[in-house]
Amino acid sequence: MTAEADAAGAGRFTLDTRLSGALGGRTAQAVERAFGYRTVGELLAHYPRRYALRGELTALASLPLDENVTIVAEVLEVRVREMRQRRGSILEAKISDGTGILTLTFFNQKWREQDLRPGRRGIFAGKVGDYRGARQLAHPDYELFDDAAPPAAGDAAAKRWAEAPIPIYPATGTLASWQLAKSIALLLDGLDEIDDPVPSEVRDSRSLLTQRRALEAIHRPDAEADWKAARRTLRFTEAFVLQTALLMRRAELRTHSTTARHPSAGGLLERFDDALPFSLTDDQLAVGREIADDMGEPVPMNRLVQGEVGSGKTIVALRAMLAVADSGGQSALLAPTEVLAAQHLRSIARMLGPDLATALMPTLITGQLPAAERRKALLRAAAGQSRIVVGTHALLGETVGFADLGLVVVDEQHRFGVEQREALRLKGRNPPHVLVLTATPIPRTVAMTVFGDLDVSTIRELPAGRAGIESFVVPLAERPGWRGRVWERLAEEVELGRQGFVVCPAIEPRLAEDAAPPEGEGDADDAGPGASVASVLAELTGHPRFAGKRVAPLHGRMSAEEKDRVMRAFAAGELDVLVATTVIEVGVDVPNASAMVVVDADRFGVSQLHQLRGRVGRGAVPGLCLLVTAAEPESLARQRVEAVAGTLDGFELARVDLELRREGDVLGATQSGGRSSLKLLRVARDGEVIADARERAAQVLADDPRLERHVSLAAEVRRRVDREASEFLSKG
Ligand code: ADP
Ligand code: MG
Repeated sequence: MTAEADAAGAGRFTLDTRLSGALGGRTAQAVERAFGYRTVGELLAHYPRRYALRGELTALASLPLDENVTIVAEVLEVRVREMRQRRGSILEAKISDGTGILTLTFFNQKWREQDLRPGRRGIFAGKVGDYRGARQLAHPDYELFDDAAPPAAGDAAAKRWAEAPIPIYPATGTLASWQLAKSIALLLDGLDEIDDPVPSEVRDSRSLLTQRRALEAIHRPDAEADWKAARRTLRFTEAFVLQTALLMRRAELRTHSTTARHPSAGGLLERFDDALPFSLTDDQLAVGREIADDMGEPVPMNRLVQGEVGSGKTIVALRAMLAVADSGGQSALLAPTEVLAAQHLRSIARMLGPDLATALMPTLITGQLPAAERRKALLRAAAGQSRIVVGTHALLGETVGFADLGLVVVDEQHRFGVEQREALRLKGRNPPHVLVLTATPIPRTVAMTVFGDLDVSTIRELPAGRAGIESFVVPLAERPGWRGRVWERLAEEVELGRQGFVVCPAIEPRLAEDAAPPEGEGDADDAGPGASVASVLAELTGHPRFAGKRVAPLHGRMSAEEKDRVMRAFAAGELDVLVATTVIEVGVDVPNASAMVVVDADRFGVSQLHQLRGRVGRGAVPGLCLLVTAAEPESLARQRVEAVAGTLDGFELARVDLELRREGDVLGATQSGGRSSLKLLRVARDGEVIADARERAAQVLADDPRLERHVSLAAEVRRRVDREASEFLSKG
């Protein structure tokens, strides 16, 4: 314990102490503005991004322009000159780390000459600018290493001082790394005893540090081994607290009671199964049994069914709806778009056949329905006549009531957040069973982390008789001429009596945002004047091979009726090629479609490309997927496209996607439904830690379900839940 800490009176703060109390109002405000932290515990969980060594030289040679950087370097020379154009002086200091030279500039701050003497070393932080072709930092923050600090050379303490890693924190323009380090040091000095959220037997069996020791070592390590051990401890702790929270939430959901739903002997489900023109795959049967078991309990089901595009999830969901109908209840099916809702209704009606359709009266309710039709549909839902109601989020509207809502099926969970699921849950008199379908395969650890409160079923096997898909990258960077060949190939497919899609990232040139891929899926921001529905349409219309072929656009700016009309015409074979945006991404099912051309494929995310490809090769006709890209051969964008072409295995792609994405994106708001992101844990890398933590959390909860004997763990879980709640509220 240092002398300052004693003087300040150690033992004043807990993790819940307000920063304003611990650091003073001004610093606390700066920290809150920069990072949103309000408590001691939150700032202590602001871990260093990396560590620098006093002797270490960072690569000045490759400083990224316009980024906030923190570097360790030595002052080479300092010059002060008077400005020519106006009054005042410029101080220029050149610093070097041995790999490059950087200029620091200060206006009217001559006095810094005393500070920045040649030979002194320190940490410098600022935004990298460019002045006449040279990299510079204007008015950087800096802290020079204390010349006086190193004890006499040869001393063991001198060696330690030289070797102690310097924490480098994620910083902002207004709050530099060492300013954070100072505040954090204050907190550590003043921190009261804290109890470990991880029970001691778990800690000991994994050789983890205590929480207190880990916080100390991650922020003020004496050596590399210290922060490494601390990270290991804090990473496990993070996983452990998260899993405990998720398992408790799951248990909490299971305390609600609802109506158990059983199919009846000789009932609707049996009639449906008997009439099926094919046999269900083993996976479909197994998942069907899991769902039946869940719904047979008087506890709401919360199940996620993941399965490749075309693996037959819709039938699995439909069978669950039939079981609910057998028990007298209704089901609601939510689709992400009106096109898909309309298509679901059609395919459900087709699968049911005329007799069952009459009995179940599947009904569409969307925002775009004409008033009279809408009124009729609403009545059918409210009176319980319609046993299957299909719609978009409009189904969540207050005007939609159900007589006895037993099951909610959410198709493509990506587009529906937790809150929407929650809103729908409140629609039934008893909470309905909830089934979420997703075609984006989710690696096990992500499922455990993001959907830890849901049970997960997986359909891996595709129904037999699929002709398969061949995928190719068309690399315009190396082979610009291949673009023409793409249209030839598409024309050939059409001439074989098949159909095709051309997907573009935008509706019109320069209006990329209209078809912006969902968050975290790609970068629409930097979409320049790339290909668009309009430009490709013009290109094809003028192309000799497409003379007499029926080509039509489909995109989000068309009205619901127009879109529906085009989709129907395409499904009926009255159109040859659709030039579309990603409105066709999910669920469009036209077995005769064989060609999928994605232009500017690098503008789309891995899972989106995989989804798009899933639109072809769905029947007996083999699919062809051409991913056209101008991205440079080694670029990340190109790697994503190559990965998609390289495998049809959605699980493998999900893994690759995780690796290629920037950290943090994995739990982006669209996937996590607003859950707060992770600190040290990376789902792609830390699968084992997560699985281990989950098992341990389950053991603790089995003994002590309400954590009455694990008070500090309970407190940590509560902090986490509170943080989520406040993030949720602040998002409005
Ligand atoms: P998903 O929703 O998982 O993408 P769908 O449920 O739309 O897949 O099924 C894709 C197509 O495969 C549909 O035309 C469906 O009728 C058909 N299908 C589903 N299950 C089977 C099966 N076991 N055998 C043959 N065809 C099937
Ligand atoms: Mg589907």
